[in-house]
Amino acid sequence: MTVNTRMPESLASATGTITVDLGRIAANWKALAAKVAPARCAAVVKADAYGLGGERIIPTLARAGCPTFFIATPSEAEAARNLAPHADIFALNGLVGNAAAAFAHLDVKPVLSTLDDIVAWSALCKARGERLPAAIHIDTGLHRLGLPVRDVRRLAAEPTMMAGIDLCLVMSHLASADNPRDPKNRDQLLAFETLTALFPAVPRSLAASDGLMLGPAYHFDLVRPGYALYGGQASQIAPTPVKAAVTVSARILAVADVAPGETVGYSATWRAKRPSRIATIAAGYADGIPRNASASDGRSGGHVLISGHLAPIVGRVSMDLITVDVTDLPEGAAMPGEFAKLIADDLTIEEAGFAAGTIGYEILTRLGPRFTRLYLDDEAR
Ligand SMILES: *Cc1c(COP(=O)(O)O)cnc(C)c1O
Repeated sequence: MTVNTRMPESLASATGTITVDLGRIAANWKALAAKVAPARCAAVVKADAYGLGGERIIPTLARAGCPTFFIATPSEAEAARNLAPHADIFALNGLVGNAAAAFAHLDVKPVLSTLDDIVAWSALCKARGERLPAAIHIDTGLHRLGLPVRDVRRLAAEPTMMAGIDLCLVMSHLASADNPRDPKNRDQLLAFETLTALFPAVPRSLAASDGLMLGPAYHFDLVRPGYALYGGQASQIAPTPVKAAVTVSARILAVADVAPGETVGYSATWRAKRPSRIATIAAGYADGIPRNASASDGRSGGHVLISGHLAPIVGRVSMDLITVDVTDLPEGAAMPGEFAKLIADDLTIEEAGFAAGTIGYEILTRLGPRFTRLYLDDEAR
C-alpha cells in the first residue's frame, strides 16, 4: 500500500485522521460480487459513501468493475455522475421535490416509491418524447419507502400509468436481514416473489449487505451492499466475507494525574477510585463520537487503543474532547502528541457502536469534517 502524497503536510497539525483503505474496499466489493454471482453486485454509496468520501471511493469501485451505484439524493446523484460517467446510477429517495428533470439530464434512474412519482416520471417521458429508465420500490414489510401492495396491484392492472417509463428494476428492502433466524425475512421474500411476478422479465433486487448472506434465494438479479463494502459487519450471526477498511485516530493532547476521589469531565459522572492517569484526546461529539460512549460510575462505555492497549473512555464526552483512563497502560505508552485509535482492525465500528448504544452505521456516517481523510491507494495492490 502506498499512502496518498497529500498526507504529510495535512498530518502535521491534524487533530484526527480517518484512513480509508481503498484497496480493501475494492477487494470487499470483489469478494461480495464473487459471493453472489451470477447475480450482479452494485455498490451503495449514499451519504458520501457512508461518510468516507465518495470522491475517492466511487472511482475506486468503478475501476474495480462495479457497474451500478445507488445514492439517495439529487445532489448525491450529480456528484456520483461526475465521478462515474459511465455507470448505472439509481437514486433511492426518488423524485425528491422537482428533481425529475435533473435526473433525466444526468442519466440517473430514480427509484420510484409512490404513484405520484410514477405519474410524474411518466409525464416527463411524454414531454421529452423518449423512454426513460427508472426502478420501482415495492414495500414488502419494512413500511418505510415503497409502494404498498394495493398500489403495486393497481400499477400492474393499469400499465398506462407507466407509459414511457423503461422499467429496469423492481426492488424491495429487508427489515431484519441482520438476524437470519427472523421469520420476517422469509415473509418478505415470499411477498417479493409474489408481487414481482406481476412485472415479468423485469430485473429484481432485494438484498443489501446482510440480505446477501441469507442465501442465493435472496440474490435475484442484483444485490445492493453498502455497509459491508466499508468493512461493516452488521450481522454477528452471518458475517459477510469482507475486511475492515477504516482506521480512525485522534491526537492525545495531555496526560495528567487524577487523585482518588476526584472526578473527570462535565457533571462529574466518573470518579477516580485509585490514583489515576487520564489522557485527553482531541475528538468529541462534534466529531461524531457519541456523547454516551463513555463509562460513568454506573455503566461501562467504549474504548480507544493507545500503543496497542485498550483504554476505557471515562467521564462525559464533550464537544471537542474525550478523556480516557490510561492508569493500567505501561509507563510511557500514552504520550501527548501521539495518536490514539478510535476505530481499527481490532477495535471495530460495531464495538464502538454497541458501546454507545447505537450501531456501526451511525458511528461511520457521523465522523465529522475535522478528521483529515487519508486514502491508501488501491493501485498498489
Ligand atoms: C442503505 C440501503 C442499502 C444498503 O444497505 P447496507 O445495509 O448498508 O448494505 C440498500 N438498499 C436500500 C434501499 C438502502 O436504503
